[in-house]
Amino acid sequence: MLRLDIEGVAVRFPDLAAPALDLPRFDVAAGESVAVTGPSGAGKSTFINVITGLERPTEGAVRWNGTDIARLGEAARDRWRAGNVGLVMQDFHLFPGLSAVENVLLPARFRHFRLPDGLAERAAALLAAVGLDAGDRGIGTFSRGEMQRVAIARALLPRPGVIVADEPTASLDAESGAAVAALLTGLAQEAGATLIVVTHDPALSGRLDRRITLAGGRRTDDTLREIA
Ligand code: ADP
Repeated sequence: MLRLDIEGVAVRFPDLAAPALDLPRFDVAAGESVAVTGPSGAGKSTFINVITGLERPTEGAVRWNGTDIARLGEAARDRWRAGNVGLVMQDFHLFPGLSAVENVLLPARFRHFRLPDGLAERAAALLAAVGLDAGDRGIGTFSRGEMQRVAIARALLPRPGVIVADEPTASLDAESGAAVAALLTGLAQEAGATLIVVTHDPALSGRLDRRITLAGGRRTDDTLREIA
């Protein structure tokens, strides 16, 4: 379970007058779930890149359980991300020639010379948890909703302390979107993972503890969900 604490973060691009991201302070409690919304150009992707260490801010600290990833070099950030972050991106980056279970295991195969004991079983169990069987069917025949489920199982495999998802229901129909929203939030909660999701889908954001809005790189709204 990871706690985020951002201090004095700014991301500037040479050709932009205002920072793309400007967060003097921002905290997320361990195990909290947060929806991030805002119009196009608001800084949502920049925010995701900075909190996952894909990008280093121009200034400021991005601390996860006290480790400031903004001070780490690229290789150390890559290692930190592989060990701590489950990423669910819009573009699934799945390999069509491989089965679902092999797609779930692929990042682990790159990381380990030999797969740790029990990992293949855990991959199959995660696929079952997202409602897929671990058969040999190539991923090329999967629907978008099924592919998103595979991507969620893959993100959860290394037991990440934080799950970060970018519009995970955007390309899905209402029914599979609702199923993916329920799975993502349910599995994150079960794992005790902190969950940060860029989304404009009320069916998804309604399941999260908190919603923040970005506009022009700044946080303009920050609301805890009302418990009915
Ligand atoms: P969102 O994800 O909310 O659409 P972004 O984080 O992609 O917003 O972008 C925030 C702002 O930063 C935008 O004005 C965008 O044009 C600018 N921006 C993002 N990446 C770059 C870059 N690599 N170079 C220059 N400007 C960028």
